[in-house]
Amino acid sequence: MSGTTSSRTMRAWRVHGPGDTRLDVVPRPVPAAPDDVQVRIEAAGICGTDLWVHEHAPVPADYRHPLVGTAGPHVLGHEMAGTVTATGPAARLPVGSLVAVRPLLACGTCSTCRRCEPNLCEQRAFLGIHGGGGAFAEYVVVAADQLHPLPPPFTARTGALVETLATCWHAVSAVEVAPDDVVLVVGAGPVGLGLVLCLRARGVRQVLVSARDGVRAEAATALGARRLDPAQGPLHRLVRPATGGAGVAVSYDAAGAAGPVVDQQVRALRPGGHLVAVAEFHDAPTVDLTRLVREGKHLHGSAAYTPSDVDAVVGAVAAGLLDPSPLVTSTLALEDLLVGGLHHLSSGGRSRDVKVLVTAAGPAVTPR
Ligand SMILES: [Zn+2]
Ligand SMILES: [Zn+2]
Repeated sequence: MSGTTSSRTMRAWRVHGPGDTRLDVVPRPVPAAPDDVQVRIEAAGICGTDLWVHEHAPVPADYRHPLVGTAGPHVLGHEMAGTVTATGPAARLPVGSLVAVRPLLACGTCSTCRRCEPNLCEQRAFLGIHGGGGAFAEYVVVAADQLHPLPPPFTARTGALVETLATCWHAVSAVEVAPDDVVLVVGAGPVGLGLVLCLRARGVRQVLVSARDGVRAEAATALGARRLDPAQGPLHRLVRPATGGAGVAVSYDAAGAAGPVVDQQVRALRPGGHLVAVAEFHDAPTVDLTRLVREGKHLHGSAAYTPSDVDAVVGAVAAGLLDPSPLVTSTLALEDLLVGGLHHLSSGGRSRDVKVLVTAAGPAVTPR
């Protein structure tokens, strides 16, 4: 449990088993390889994946991922930004730089990596899931090429959203969308709302969002989307008046709901339209593939992101085209992650929050 830290230790939330994530005092990581960089984590986003990893502990503590090599218990959390505090001799990032960590590790040599799709790497690993450190800690050490410097107007808080937004940017890059196309986003969590931000940043003017009421639905409207209430009927009926009966050009599924919602999206597409699945489905949805065939519609899966998606998000924020800050609805201290973050979000907190951030407050080391 939480204890006293020194300059050689830090606090970190580690997954010991299903539902057993503990705030441990562990050795503070320091640069070992020449291109290693130590980052003091200043903001870390809590993601649905973190809830799942906390509840299921899918990576055994004794498993060493080939790209990471560290034994567990592994630190939780993969969405993080902070300040460079130390570097190896070959790392060119100045101490004090504000950076976002790109937690997706790829081998660089498999067939998909050679096709420049590291997001699909056969050995893909994530910091915060497979070892190698994680976001819910005071420090992390990563190779310099896993870091993205954050120019103004970034803060650590908006920097912690870069990873989520890169997932969204990758998804909106899957299909060409014209500025006057009407598109649909299903789900108004951080990914759904991030899709709205990325679509707006790319000049798409008419974004419909299917969202139940609550903070997330209000946020969709505040971001310039038009909200559809799925309680009012099936999606294909709801989009009809909004598209003059034509249907939407693209539907982005950020809900991952089993049942008829995916089929409703297929029906909501205009002929030749595209459905881009971004969320993972834990239970299989039902889809009428005959309709897909007869109406020439397309189904896409969008997996994570590439380094250039991260760069594109950073560039869009720097250019003033994208402001991630409305997604942050509350912040917590590191020690409050379990109750105020994981338990809160898995027991109804999602209707009151969009993105909850863990933020570092005060000095890096708090003797007590
Ligand atoms: Zn995430
Ligand atoms: Zn690979």
